[in-house]
Amino acid sequence: MGNWKLNFNVGEASIYLHKLQKKIANYRDIEVVVAPTSLCLQPLSLQLERSKIKLGAQNAFYQDFGAYTGEISFAELRGLVDYCIIGHSERRYIFHEDDKMIAKKVAACIRNKITPVLCIGETESERSFGETADVIKDQLLGGLSEIGVEDVPKVIVAYEPVWAISSTKDAKIATPDEIAEVVEIIRANLKEVYGADISENVPILFGGSVKPTNAGAYLTTPGINGLLIGGASLILEQFTDIIEIAKRVK
Ligand code: PEP
Repeated sequence: MGNWKLNFNVGEASIYLHKLQKKIANYRDIEVVVAPTSLCLQPLSLQLERSKIKLGAQNAFYQDFGAYTGEISFAELRGLVDYCIIGHSERRYIFHEDDKMIAKKVAACIRNKITPVLCIGETESERSFGETADVIKDQLLGGLSEIGVEDVPKVIVAYEPVWAISSTKDAKIATPDEIAEVVEIIRANLKEVYGADISENVPILFGGSVKPTNAGAYLTTPGINGLLIGGASLILEQFTDIIEIAKRVK
């Protein structure tokens, strides 16, 4: 899944996707998703109507309609997108979204038949103070707190350590061992609260400075089912190289 953040206008996004469609025309067995800005979603959903590339939103508000100036809702996104990124660290730290708001967004997503990609991850200082397991537990269970157990299998979790995201100052590269350790914590929490079956089957993505050079190692990290890619998803060659690696790993 590529997170384009606040990049590419409608024209640029459309040209990129034309090229991407050609490059991955015969790919099966892996899901390719791009998350453009909200303004691009309507035209791109028409362009991608019969394509295997799926669309994701980057954010929406949890109320379906009403007096919420400036917002768009998951109800409006229904039918336009298959996925929505929720709780990205940029939403948590720049826009001050807390676990309560994120939980309401996860619920609104499910209510509107959109798969939430719930992002969780510790900051560098939280890690250095030994708080990683607590942060992960709080963000994971907090984010799921507004949905019932029957809806938890409809959620994708993305582990994105903030210190590894390329736009973070002095970002570091996470090792597969560091990731595997946190994935175990995520699955242990899911198991304790929702049972073994759900714990084993909830897909977990990794995100943080993913590049063609490290994508293979991350995709073969125990417990990881896919990748959430920021910077490298803006560069068509890098994104297609990563998709090619995913196809091979699969
Ligand atoms: C992200 O912000 O979701 C992300 C993973 O970014 P990058 O790949 O650029 O580190």
